Amino acid sequence: MPPVASVLDLPVHVLPDYAGCLIEQIVSGHGGHVVTLNAEMAMLARQEPNLASLICRAELVVPDGAGVVWAMRFQGRRVQRCAGIDLVSAVLPELARRRTRVFLLGAAPGVTEAVAGQWSRQYPGLILCGQHDGYFTEADEVRLREQLQAGNPQVILVGLGVPKQEFWIERTRSYLPTTVFVGVGGSFDIWAGTKERAPKWLRENHLEWFYRLVKEPWRWRRMLALPKFALAILRRGLP
Ligand code: UDP
Repeated sequence: MPPVASVLDLPVHVLPDYAGCLIEQIVSGHGGHVVTLNAEMAMLARQEPNLASLICRAELVVPDGAGVVWAMRFQGRRVQRCAGIDLVSAVLPELARRRTRVFLLGAAPGVTEAVAGQWSRQYPGLILCGQHDGYFTEADEVRLREQLQAGNPQVILVGLGVPKQEFWIERTRSYLPTTVFVGVGGSFDIWAGTKERAPKWLRENHLEWFYRLVKEPWRWRRMLALPKFALAILRRGLP
């Protein structure tokens, strides 16, 4: 079977070791965009051709959500879920060992500073070459790009939410061709401790979405994407 599956016409890489692949990509210096695909993003991509097109061009697409993993199993491809937050947490020790330059972008003011403070204690080798909150104007964006070019990070973790982070990465990556950009959604809030993640037993039972719905009920409209996604997959599966 090819190492790339297709979920609603979007690619998903099928790999035994996503963390190893990400480290290789960072070390290679070839740059790239890492997309952590879930059902919501897949449904959004059906309405936004630009989003679909950039996902198709991403160097690495990992199955972030339970829905995507289920869709792949439905097609006969067994794959382990690889949540963006776990992927990044898994590569941090090795990035620290290699003294990698990492930039943190996203979330409310103060959040990435808190994460940077924590990581610099936890992973002393990591070079945290800068951080910026995720609420910036067009004018700030030019200055941010200059800051990034000066710091020349090998990795930028981008937590602006979907699809804002994907579009920002798309318009910025040509300025930093050797950098790997990873869309991390709301992970900074969890690393900083300002938000809690679903308990492990819910995650293991593919119910993280349910926890988010209970904690953040305003998400219900966005989360309707999940049943719509399941229906679209089932329809595709019918002869
Ligand atoms: N965010 C941001 N800039 C914006 C909008 C959102 O930095 O203009 C941040 C927000 O503070 C939060 C993250 O993006 O930390 C979005 O979190 P969410 O859990 O909604 O991510 P998603 O579900 O889209 O992956």
